[in-house]
Order: sequence, then C-alpha cells, then structure tokens
Amino acid sequence: MKKRIVILGSGESGTGAALLARHLGYDVFVSDKGAIKDQYKLELDQHGIAWEENQHSLDQILNAAEIVKSPGIPEKSDVMQAIRAKGIPVIGEIELGFRFAGKCRIIAITGSNGKTTTTELTYHLLNMAGLDVRKGGNVGNSFARMVLEDLKTKNNKNRNRIFVLEVSSFQLDDIQQFDPYIAMLLNITPDHLDRYDYQLEKYAASKFRICMNQKRGDKFIYNGFDPIIAQYMEAPASGVKCIAIRKGFFKHGSIRVGKHRFDMTQSKLKGPHNMFNAVCAIRAALLLKADPEKLQAGLNSFQPPAHRLELVASINGVQWINDSKATNVDSVYYALQAMETPTVWIVGGQDKGNDYTPLLKLVKKKVTSIVCMGIDNSKIIKAFGNMKKTMHQTQSAEQAVQTAARLAKPGDTVLLSPACASFDLFKNYEDRGTQFREQVLRMMNDE
Ligand code: ADP
Repeated sequence: MKKRIVILGSGESGTGAALLARHLGYDVFVSDKGAIKDQYKLELDQHGIAWEENQHSLDQILNAAEIVKSPGIPEKSDVMQAIRAKGIPVIGEIELGFRFAGKCRIIAITGSNGKTTTTELTYHLLNMAGLDVRKGGNVGNSFARMVLEDLKTKNNKNRNRIFVLEVSSFQLDDIQQFDPYIAMLLNITPDHLDRYDYQLEKYAASKFRICMNQKRGDKFIYNGFDPIIAQYMEAPASGVKCIAIRKGFFKHGSIRVGKHRFDMTQSKLKGPHNMFNAVCAIRAALLLKADPEKLQAGLNSFQPPAHRLELVASINGVQWINDSKATNVDSVYYALQAMETPTVWIVGGQDKGNDYTPLLKLVKKKVTSIVCMGIDNSKIIKAFGNMKKTMHQTQSAEQAVQTAARLAKPGDTVLLSPACASFDLFKNYEDRGTQFREQVLRMMNDE
C-alpha cells in the first residue's frame, strides 16, 4: 500500500479526490465534520474507501502523509490547526488532479464575479467549435473526478484534451504546482473577506495564485480596467503572454476581439459585464485555434446559467428578471447597469457587511421602487431610505412578487438582484431564485 492520504470534507471535490487517490493505490481515509450525502457514501463504499462523518478523529487524521482539504474548510478550524502544528503537507483537490492530469491543456477561470458564466460559455464555445473539451472544478464535476476518468480511459495521453475549470480563491489557496495553460482573472472586488482577515490584499493575493506557476508559452487573460487588479498585479514570469482586456470592445451590438467582430444581438447574454465575459471566453477559444465562424454560432446558441440575469417571463409588458446569484454589491451594480427600462428592484437577505454606496447613483437613475425581501432590512432602508423611492418590506418570495406586481407599470422591469446571501429566508441562492421564478410563473398562469 502506498502512502496514507486523508481527505477532509466529502462533497463533490473531496469524493473526487478520494476516488482518484484510491485508484492510484493510496491508503485513503475520508473525514467530514458534517453529514456526507448518500450518493457520495455509496461511491466511497463501492471503492472500499474508509470514511467518517459528523466528526474529525485526529488519531485517524494526524497519521497521514498528506492531507487533501476541501475548499470550504477554513485554516482557523481546530482540525487544520492540529494538522499545521504537526507539519503535515496540505493540498487541495485541484492540485491533486493536476498532478495526474497528463498532457491535457487547462483553462482556469477565477474572479469575484462571472466565473460560472464564463466557464460555461468558454466550454460551450469550444464544444461548438468541435474541440475535445470538458468542464468542471468549482461547478459540476470535480477536476479530480474528470482526471480519474481520463486515467481509466487512457485519455490522459491526449494532447488535444482541454479542461475548462472554474476555480475559487479558496481552491487557489491550496494549490502548489497547478499551472493552467490559460489563466483568466475576471475581476477582484471585496468578497469572502472573512476568510482573509478582512484584508483585501490577502484576498487579491489568493486570486493571483491562478498565474503563479505559469511558464513560457502560457497565457494570462485579465481585466485591464479593474483598479484592484492593476493595484496588485506583478510582473508575470518571462515568456507568459499577458492579454489585458480593455474597455471599448463592445459597440453597436457587437464585440471586437483582435481582428474579429462578433455580433451579440442574437445572444441571450445581457449587460456590459457579460460582453466582457464573452470577450474573455472568445480570446481563450481563439488561442486554442477555434474557428471564428463556429464561435459566432456558439455565442448565438449559448444558454446562460440560471439565476444570473435570467429572463423569467414578460407579463403585461413587464419583464421579470431573476438575478438571485447576485450575492454581493458589485454584481448588483452590473445588473442595474444592464437594466434598460424603469426598474422595480427586489433586494435584501443576509447582509455580508455590505457598503451600498457604489449603488446610489444607479439606483437613483434606474430604480422606481425598492422591495426589500429579508428578515432584517434596516441597512437597506438606511442606505436608500432618503432617495424618495417607494420602499416596501416583505418576508417571502410570494410577498415580494405580489408587491412588485402592484408597483410595476407596463414597460418596466422587475429585477431580483439581492446583494445579500439568502440564508435568512431560503436554503441557498438557487432556492431563492427558484421560488421567485415559481411565483412569477404562477402569476402568469393566473392571468
Ligand atoms: P461566480 O461564479 O463568480 O459567482 P456567476 O457567473 O455565477 O459568477 O455570476 C454571479 C453574479 O455576478 C450574477 O449576478 C451575474 O450577473 C454577475 N456577473 C457575471 N459576470 C460578471 C462580471 N464580469 N462582473 C460583474 N458581475 C458579473
């Protein structure tokens, strides 16, 4: 038996790591402080992998030669403190996957906002262009699970294989050698600062880890008009091609990427931020020699992921938009910027220490009324209460939709873009968006 690897956390990434490590012959033990989902228990059992849930037994953990830690586990947790005190090496699942990924090429995408949209779009464009591409990471399949499948099918020798990976800052904290062929840094805005001692500098440093191992021939695509990126950017390794996406790429319904122009009037992607996401995805696809004509077809057929500026319905001339994934102020900024008609704005939830100042001008210009949806709406009322907008307080998706329906006039938009976490009233942002959608559709059927 090879060395002992202990996996902390058994969600999709932990389970993927466990299966890969087991396949490679390691002595694997999985430990989760919470309950493990049945589907993952079944997989672990099927592969003879020992596991525990609802606890971390230090006697089973501190004898590991290496720890693979799930991104959700903070450094400050007791188990991590004990591991660090013993000096056991710690990596993340992305790093483990990378060690055994073989000859593939990796596109790794990070940023405070837009990761999922850009990952999905990049995948879709490459797929439509006929390239051999898979997607995962922070969304969908874990990287380790995909690498395992390739090992089993000997696809790891395939130089044409491309992985598009969404990578969070927490995942980047636990990489060592991970070196994407194309790294993408979409933006940096204050988020998750609780995990970084409330220091923007530390959060930014974590994001820049996406390119820290890049070498000659690799490419780094980044937001060339993001002030925080500009502030913390360091010189890349020699031979890494840096591609700054600068403003001015979107005009008259089309985007310009190098010498190519792409029409966006048929695309379901809306708002300047999504045009930026599209430029990044197209850049990556062109670097991989995708045919521009096929990329245009891909842009036209792309279905943006749900809960991100998703048009739910048009009822009596009112557009209803679900942007439940907007859990921070910056994403709401872009959502409001994308609004083309007077907007009834549904906002609120669990506050994450928000500063609403960046939204004041846009709210003044675009919002007619504000519908708060949350248990404690005091911060929102304080921030926008003196703007002479009608304000209403609601405590469920049903109340919020009914209130917005009374306020919206034909030609208006109702936008759910909460700027807050959802856990006060909902299970998660998907549940919040789904309940909103259901209420809107119910109203439509009642018409
Ligand atoms: P992430 O995976 O980084 O959370 P998503 O693609 O899920 O990003 O989008 C999250 C929220 O951010 C949505 O409200 C979306 O409309 C908004 N958003 C998407 N792309 C960008 C961008 N480039 N800049 C700012 N906000 C964005």
